[in-house]
Amino acid sequence: MSLFCTGDRAGGAWLRGTCGSCRYCRAGRENLCPRSTYTGWDADGGFSETALVPEAFAYRLPDDQDPALLAPLLCAGIIGYRSLRRSMLPPGGRLGIYGFGASAHLAAQAALAEGATVHVLTRSARARELALELGVASAGGAYDRPPELLDSAILFAPVGDLVPVALESLDRSGTLAVAGIHLSDIPVLNYQRHLFQERNLRSVTSNTRQDGRDFLALAERVGIRVVASRYPMDHADRALADLAADKVNGAAVLVPG
Ligand SMILES: [Zn+2]
Repeated sequence: MSLFCTGDRAGGAWLRGTCGSCRYCRAGRENLCPRSTYTGWDADGGFSETALVPEAFAYRLPDDQDPALLAPLLCAGIIGYRSLRRSMLPPGGRLGIYGFGASAHLAAQAALAEGATVHVLTRSARARELALELGVASAGGAYDRPPELLDSAILFAPVGDLVPVALESLDRSGTLAVAGIHLSDIPVLNYQRHLFQERNLRSVTSNTRQDGRDFLALAERVGIRVVASRYPMDHADRALADLAADKVNGAAVLVPG
């Protein structure tokens, strides 16, 4: 049986289907398929107790765990994991994480489990506390400089102003991955300050099924801890308002029924 999950992080969606025949699908890059579809966007079922999905796009989840603590692994967790891979973090490398919500608190644990030194930069004091509790090396304000240069950085906050800030904190040949679907405008970059010395700026688009399988296996193996605030389904508006006001630590989960 392929178990699906109850409740999703507010605003979540995940890969439901791809064409299987375009140049991207054939090259194992199905996240770029122009005909990809998403549960919670193209089809209902992202916020329900049960959902019908194509078996090839379902993930097996443990039977014995609280679904509210599994839900954030699916959207927030998998996209955070792909962002980590897109950041080209070398083994034992130095990673900066800008913004620390649902995706970031899971990606940080994946990086720590792989031996990285992680620095978190975020405006929320509560999120900085959570980051330190999870074992990161330092936690500062969003516009602060990390205590050392970074091999890689991930921008989870949808704030274009932070792109040059993060690029300036990269070491030579470092990579910044922008995790969001939406980002406010990026200010004018200065080639010498922000990109020279082979620094890389990359975006992240959706995920492949292999990303999902790899992340869920890692989460189970190293015991990634999901921090979640639960909201009854009919309080979805409050969940969104709390997310906007930085009042949610970790992930917000809507619980049906
Ligand atoms: Zn395709």
